[in-house]
Amino acid sequence: MKKNIRLKILFPMFLIIGILASAQQNDTPIFPKGKLAPKENFIGQVWVTSLVTNDSIYQTVVASVTFEPGARTNWHSHPNGQLILVTDGVGYHQLEGTPKQVIQKGDIIKCPPHTNHWHGGSWDQAMTHIVVLPNTEKGNAVWRGRVTNRVYVN
Ligand code: MN
Repeated sequence: MKKNIRLKILFPMFLIIGILASAQQNDTPIFPKGKLAPKENFIGQVWVTSLVTNDSIYQTVVASVTFEPGARTNWHSHPNGQLILVTDGVGYHQLEGTPKQVIQKGDIIKCPPHTNHWHGGSWDQAMTHIVVLPNTEKGNAVWRGRVTNRVYVN
């Protein structure tokens, strides 16, 4: 009788508590959201956390960037390219002259050097990625024009 109650009530209860606890753990970001990015290079709310600052040994910049839905970079390029590692959510990435790509948690994108592109959140979901800029002695980024709504939704 008592064993039956344990099976019928306690076991499902613990199962639900366990699922809720693991869901909560998964929602905790690895890195903090950071500070709002400067408006001149972005549209919408963009948050940046510096993870690795440039130095004479590594000459590499690493940062975690979070785009709210609809937020995106301006068009830009990187003198030595850029690696993008998507750590959360769903967003967009587009190399100039090619169709916009949907990118999501777990995706890794290589942006070739001197190639015009933009990245951002999707229209209804935020996206967080880690960017790696190698060989920064040639500079980090060359910024260009805004990504219009027409390009963004296309
Ligand atoms: Mn870029």
